[in-house]
Amino acid sequence: MPIRTLLIANRGEIAVRIGRAARELGIRTVQAHSEADADSLAVQLADEAVEIGPAPASKSYLNVEAIVAAAKRTGADAVHPGYGFLAENPAFAQAVEDAGLTFVGPSARTIGLMGDKVAARTAAAEAGVPTVPGSEGRLESPEAARAVLAETGFPVLIKAAAGGGGRGIRIAHDEHEFDRLVHQAATEAQAAFGDGGLYVEKAIQHARHVEVQILGDGENVIHCFERECSLQRRRQKVWEEAPAVELRPEVRGQLCEAAVRLARAVHYKGAGTLEFLYDEAAEAFYFIEMNTRIQVEHPVTECVTGVDLIAEMLQIAGGAPLTHRQEDIPLEGHAIEVRINAEDPAKNFMPFPGVVQDLRVPGGPGVRFDTLLYNGYAIPPFYDSLLGKLIVWAEDRPKALARLKRALAELRVEGVKTTAPLHLALADDPQVQAAKFHTRWLEGWLEDNAHRLAETPGPAAQD
Ligand code: ADP
Ligand code: ADP
Ligand code: MG
Repeated sequence: MPIRTLLIANRGEIAVRIGRAARELGIRTVQAHSEADADSLAVQLADEAVEIGPAPASKSYLNVEAIVAAAKRTGADAVHPGYGFLAENPAFAQAVEDAGLTFVGPSARTIGLMGDKVAARTAAAEAGVPTVPGSEGRLESPEAARAVLAETGFPVLIKAAAGGGGRGIRIAHDEHEFDRLVHQAATEAQAAFGDGGLYVEKAIQHARHVEVQILGDGENVIHCFERECSLQRRRQKVWEEAPAVELRPEVRGQLCEAAVRLARAVHYKGAGTLEFLYDEAAEAFYFIEMNTRIQVEHPVTECVTGVDLIAEMLQIAGGAPLTHRQEDIPLEGHAIEVRINAEDPAKNFMPFPGVVQDLRVPGGPGVRFDTLLYNGYAIPPFYDSLLGKLIVWAEDRPKALARLKRALAELRVEGVKTTAPLHLALADDPQVQAAKFHTRWLEGWLEDNAHRLAETPGPAAQD
């Protein structure tokens, strides 16, 4: 049954984005919010708002009972989890379904399977999708670990089966370091994710991060091509693009086909992303994980394909079949997204909450700014530092880069420090312009270019 009232169980820019898609579909929106978010933009734009608890996320955005109760109380018939928080928590999806409501995403079973990174690796191998060499299941004993290491060689990554958001990954360069880190990793994974399970992967050097967007309705699965997300800091994405210009069309075809094959094998329902490492020299790709939710960087895909991914999610959850056929999904032009965080890039990306004094939002052709900001908004210190995403589209990559620089120069956020100067410097870098980078490249660049980030760039400084 089509969704009539949607509870948005998230905050920030993604809550705003979900609300927009819902209203365009004629769906009434109820924004769940913590005490600290009562005056958020998402609350202002929703048809109704409902408080779910105090500021700390553990008491509000992670509070399953409070969210389900709020949905029932406000007459919602569906819940969208956004990203982060409870988005990949099978118990939450189950609690929503048990309350007789629709969870906008795959079933609790599928989330449980693909959200466990070890189980997902196994599912990939079974579907004939290449994975990074490493352990077959969870690490059970020191002896089993030795056998894996003998095959992979060093360096290896020790990963938490339940990890995410760039957390729960450690690198070991030799057996000695491995023995030391593996105990630490298990204890920390237990504390951070409630699951101490670990696995090992060979560290692929100089790889790129390339991921495929898919949509499934439980029977059919289609892809909306790929995104390139190699510009990362501490294994977190800071800049994303679509398409990945380094892929030859044949390789793109194989990659997208592999992603669809794996999603079909698990009868995937909803929007999902299959993440891969791509070895450019060998033109080989290796599956690393699946995110069973909407991703932060989904807008670049929307720009190059014209598909509204959130609207698709809502329609699929309402029981509709996919509205697009694979052959009708175009791939046009080039899109770039940069994450604007309330952090000071000149001070090691220290978080910088504060009050937004003067906001000037970029506009014009091919520019989209998905943000939680408005003039006078006090950024709460309790949550992650993403303020917005600046997305540009143009007919090719050089034009998209020129547009990105133009739009970044228009952006003004007074009152807080942001990562905008980092993106301006990157857009000017010859390696970035040539798209010659890998997942560790930005960290090296940051060491060499710290001085450039201390300066205030753009016309914002002149007026
Ligand atoms: P994407 O995979 O969409 O590019 P990120 O990796 O940046 O996005 O993660 C999306 C959001 O989810 C971020 O706010 C991140 O901090 C959060 N997140 C991801 N995984 C977890 C997790 N396991 N626990 C807590 N927060 C997470
Ligand atoms: P998360 O769940 O935190 O998103 P991922 O498994 O997706 O974790 O990995 C996050 C990032 O860590 C990747 O984008 C990549 O930069 C790096 N990474 C992960 N696995 C490997 C690997 N086997 N070799 C090299 N880098 C890796
Ligand atoms: Mg990942």
